[in-house]
Amino acid sequence: MNTQIRHDWKKEEIQAIYDQPLLELVYQAATVHREWHKPSEIQVCTLLSVKTGGCPEDCSYCGQAARYHTDIKVQALLPTEKVLEHAQKAKDGGSSRFCMAAAWREVRDNKDFDRVIEMVKGVNDLGLEVCCTLGMLTEEQAVRLQEAGLYAYNHNLDTSESYYDEIISTRKFDQRLDTINNVRKAGITVCSGGIIGLGESNGDRVSMLLTLATMPVHPESVPVNALARVKGTPLENNPKVPIWDMVRMIATARIVMPASIVRLSAGRIEMTEEEQAWCFMAGANSIFTGERETLLVTPNPGLSEDMQMFQNLGLKPLVKENKSACSIV
Ligand code: SF4
Repeated sequence: MNTQIRHDWKKEEIQAIYDQPLLELVYQAATVHREWHKPSEIQVCTLLSVKTGGCPEDCSYCGQAARYHTDIKVQALLPTEKVLEHAQKAKDGGSSRFCMAAAWREVRDNKDFDRVIEMVKGVNDLGLEVCCTLGMLTEEQAVRLQEAGLYAYNHNLDTSESYYDEIISTRKFDQRLDTINNVRKAGITVCSGGIIGLGESNGDRVSMLLTLATMPVHPESVPVNALARVKGTPLENNPKVPIWDMVRMIATARIVMPASIVRLSAGRIEMTEEEQAWCFMAGANSIFTGERETLLVTPNPGLSEDMQMFQNLGLKPLVKENKSACSIV
């Protein structure tokens, strides 16, 4: 392999990669991708919202924030048996990983957390890789999850540090980093990426990638999301993210974090198969799919549609002997 994993990136270097003529950028990313991954293999993950809506946070993009008037129905923590039924179906449908999301600000040491621990154990017993996204986490809570068999924890940066306050006022960027550190210290793999289309500048996108790519260990999984414009949220009228912006972001992430799984996450529902093919060409090698045709609370292509796309593009689900990170959008 020629490409080295680097943790000493400078912002100007990443900006120069991001600003290249698009075809040159995609060519470079595709080349790096082939050094580190099999380009025909795409990781297939299933995501289930185990507790929906009613969140006290004010993330401007999120329909689950209690303060916005959206059509999303609040749902208390699902019973463990129900979650395990979904996990079994996901496994039967070909997923090797199962990700559980709860719309919480942070994990509290209460009965609900005990139930999540049970869910993690149960999904692990099914032989699936288990991922969670539950909000902020202390190191002790991370250790409990790890001991229960949690493999990956998702905690997205969302955007750059300097743009963060424009999008969320109820927590700070540094708190995101604290949780990611707690997850790392507990020996759980990290899934962390962000969203484009929030009104951020190209410089903000590059800054977010810089934060990820200069971590002492790169997140094993990097979701790149296009804003899903949810009616009732402050960002509902933002313009649709142009496909070339997604391709540019994915390609840059691929080049600066060559070993990571880069996930084409939210936004696929608004993309044609050809547009998704560009994202795979640029180095994306993971998607969420599933029986329910939703990604948490927003629409997502279903499993059969995705398997048809795989067939058309000559792709196949990634089957790994060793576990690797997977989690939320
Ligand atoms: S993104 Fe997560 S933390 Fe933010 S409002 Fe939605 S559920 Fe809550």
